[in-house]
Amino acid sequence: MNGNNEAPAPTRPMPVSHGADLDRQLALHGGVPVRRAPWPTYDKGAVFIHPDDEQAAFRAVRSHLYFRYDHRPQNETECGRFEDELCRYFGTRHALAVSSGTAALALSVMGAGVPAGSLVACPGFTFVATPSAIVMAGCRPFLIEVDDDLRMDLDDLRRRWHPDIRGIVAVHMRGFAADVEALAAFAAEMRVPLIEDAVPALGAELNGRKLGTFGTAGAFSTQSDKALNCGEGGFLVTDDSTLFARAVALSGAYEGRLRRHFAGAEPPLSGLDLPLLSLRMDEIRAALLRAELTRLPQRLALFHRNYAHVATALADLPGIAIRRPVAPGAYLGEAFVFRVPDGDAGWFARALRAEGFDARNIGADDDLNVRAFWNWRFLYHTADPGEIRAMLPRTARLLTETVDVPLSSNLTLDDCDDLIRAVRKVAAGHGVALARP
Ligand SMILES: *Cc1c(COP(=O)(O)O)cnc(C)c1O
Repeated sequence: MNGNNEAPAPTRPMPVSHGADLDRQLALHGGVPVRRAPWPTYDKGAVFIHPDDEQAAFRAVRSHLYFRYDHRPQNETECGRFEDELCRYFGTRHALAVSSGTAALALSVMGAGVPAGSLVACPGFTFVATPSAIVMAGCRPFLIEVDDDLRMDLDDLRRRWHPDIRGIVAVHMRGFAADVEALAAFAAEMRVPLIEDAVPALGAELNGRKLGTFGTAGAFSTQSDKALNCGEGGFLVTDDSTLFARAVALSGAYEGRLRRHFAGAEPPLSGLDLPLLSLRMDEIRAALLRAELTRLPQRLALFHRNYAHVATALADLPGIAIRRPVAPGAYLGEAFVFRVPDGDAGWFARALRAEGFDARNIGADDDLNVRAFWNWRFLYHTADPGEIRAMLPRTARLLTETVDVPLSSNLTLDDCDDLIRAVRKVAAGHGVALARP
């Protein structure tokens, strides 16, 4: 209670009413946008790099030793040390640094011994890299519906199960954990390996355990949009020594170099039995990644802080359904993903873009988004999106309802507040738009 509430209020100039209207009016309709500064994203240079990271890369450049398998012992190379540090970070027996996340995923599938030509199940909502890696491994992607929170639906996987399915790839898409505990139990029941595409979830945990350590192997990317960034790169982690040895040999550890990954002990197989695909990591990128790994906890804390700030502020906003994590905190926080179940998500994303945010409607027809399965034309005998969408009708509907906004770890809380204001403004405008006859 204000004890002075009986005193006459000091007169203040009233806000000019048409100005307030302009603020409320959507930028899409000529109003003032919430934000004029570019929304920070990695492709505009908003990356989490410390001067010490740059120095580490410069040191590697000046060493002139760029190849990981040169005269030095494994534990004196940047790649070898990076792999040791990854084993400690993830608590796994093995880690292998490679040239991309797609390579890490393909090597995991091949390393797990999934025979060429088999079906490998993966969710209908993922980046095109997932089915591409399955193709790269000589297998055939078998798409499964996702649930309301865009996770691979175990019930649909059971329903569609086919004896030719010889592996499952779970995806922690946009940093949100898949229901990977249930999927691992199911994979064990079916006696097939579970590979985690943990690419977008580097460092995120589910029930106190790091994503990427639930399956037979976990694959990660270090491309610029991921939690560790060296431009292009990736790695896999596993406890399975046979899978690991195959992946090392396939990645290009020729002429006995495979042995370096087993501390001089005899590897479980000979590298001569496998083709050499040359998917190696180099020393310059490994040096950069090693330095970044020391600051990964700070970066993860920023992702979580920003995501929690936005999601909490908008939790009760009518008209949108924010993607729910499978367990409390089981996400990275790199993206704010929500559905507009009874509305027009394409319109919602356009309105947010007009307000100054890099929002996308995942299933938009006018956006060849490669996270929408009907744009993976290489998988089908048809290029007709309607025909392809009918193969996974629920996933198609959900993606059509979904809006995705990237949340850089470089965002300040003021940036997050801009987004919160914009989503509220657009949701209010959307309500009006819906109410119109
Ligand atoms: C980025 C991404 C990849 C691919 O990683 P690259 O390093 O670009 O090959 C794979 N899967 C998912 C889910 C991704 O987001």
